Amino acid sequence: MSFNIDNFKDIDPGQRILMGPGPSDVPPRVLQAMSSPCIGHLDPTFLFLMNETQQLLRFLFQTENQLTIPVSATGSAGMETCFVNLVEPGDEVVVCVNGVFGTRMCDIVDRIGGKLTRVDAEWGKTINPEDVRNAVKGKNPKVLAVVHAETSTGVCQPLEDLSKIAADSGALFLVDCVTSLGGLNVAIDEMGIDAVYSGTQKCISCPPGLSPISFSARAMEALQKRKTPVLSWYLDMSMVASYWGDDRKYHHTAPINMIYGLREALRIIGEEGLNERFARHLKNHRAFVAGIEAMGLSMLVAEGERLPMLNTVCIPEGADDLAVRKTLLNEFGLEIGGGLGALAGKVWRVGLMGHTSRQRNVLLFLAALETILKAQGVPTNPGALEAVASVYNQP
Ligand SMILES: *Cc1c(COP(=O)(O)O)cnc(C)c1O
Repeated sequence: MSFNIDNFKDIDPGQRILMGPGPSDVPPRVLQAMSSPCIGHLDPTFLFLMNETQQLLRFLFQTENQLTIPVSATGSAGMETCFVNLVEPGDEVVVCVNGVFGTRMCDIVDRIGGKLTRVDAEWGKTINPEDVRNAVKGKNPKVLAVVHAETSTGVCQPLEDLSKIAADSGALFLVDCVTSLGGLNVAIDEMGIDAVYSGTQKCISCPPGLSPISFSARAMEALQKRKTPVLSWYLDMSMVASYWGDDRKYHHTAPINMIYGLREALRIIGEEGLNERFARHLKNHRAFVAGIEAMGLSMLVAEGERLPMLNTVCIPEGADDLAVRKTLLNEFGLEIGGGLGALAGKVWRVGLMGHTSRQRNVLLFLAALETILKAQGVPTNPGALEAVASVYNQP
C-alpha cells in the first residue's frame, strides 16, 4: 500500500447549522479563544484562568460548592465521575429510567457492583414520583439518580418531588443536566442536588470535550468516608479536587485550550444573563412548536413536559426519515438528529440549544422541512411561518 501525504488535504468541513441533539453551534468568540497560545498548565496565567472558570461554573450552577470543575472528558465521563466517586460495591442505588441516558446510568451502577433498583417510565413520559417513593421504601439508598433533560425523548423531568424523596430517604440526589444546563434553570443548591454533571456541547455551546460537575458538601463527605478506593484513577475526585484546589497537585494535564473555550462560552452566558437565556430558549421552542403544529405535524411529548432545547417531532406518515435528514444536511447545511433506541425511525430530534436557539434557525428549519416534505408527497398544512411569527410578535 502506498502512502502519499499529498492525499491528506486541509480540514474544511464548511458551515453547518447544528440543530441536532449536540453539538450545538459554537459562537466564533469561543473558537477564537480556543486558538489562543497553549501555555503550561501550572503557569500562573493559566491557574488564574482555571480559577475564573470555576467561578463562572458556580455562577451557572448557582452554587457555593467548592468542588465545581470541568472534568477533562465529555458528558459521559461526568456521569461516570459521579457514580464511581459516590457508589461503592454493594451500595444501594435507585436510578430513574425513561430514555437512553437513564439506561446508561444503570449500566455504570452494574459495572461498579452497586445494588441497582430501576424506576422505569415509558419513553416520552416523565418519571412518576410515586413510583420512586415506593422504590425507596424499606431501602437505604446511597444515591437517587435521574436525568433532568432526557435528550433521547425530549422530556423535562421535574426535580422538586424527587429531591424531597432523596432527602427523606437519606440518599444523595444525583442529576444529569447535560442538556438542561445553560438552557433551563439548574439551581443546584436551591434544588437540593448533591452531585451533578453536564457537557459543554449542548446549551453551553462550546465544542465537546469537557464535563462540568459539582459536588455538595454531603457528596464530598460521602467521598471522604469511602471504605474502598475510587475504582477509576483518572476520575477520582479526591485527587482531581486537589489539582483544581489550592494545592495544585499535579494529577493530569488540563486540556488548556478547551478550558479557554469553556471560559469564553461561560462569559457569553454571563453577559446574556441566566434568566434572559432561559427565556430565549423558551420563546424559540414555543415558536418552533407553533410552526410544527400549524403544519399538521405533532410533538412526541405532551405540552408541559417538553424540553425547550430538544424537540422530538413525530415523523409523519409517508415521510422518508433518512432522506429528509440527508436533504436537510446536503441542501440546507442543517443537521438534526434521528430517534434513538425505541424511538428510532419514529421521531426527529431537533435541538435549539445555546447559540443555535435563534429565530433565524427556527424559520429556516420549518421552511426547509416543509419544502422537503412537499417534495416527498407528504401533505402539510399551510401557515407554519405565520404561526411562528405570531409567537415572536407577542411581547
Ligand atoms: C449528550 C448527553 C450525555 C453524554 O454526553 P457526551 O458528551 O456525549 O459524552 C449524557 N446525558 C445526556 C442527557 C446527554 O444529552
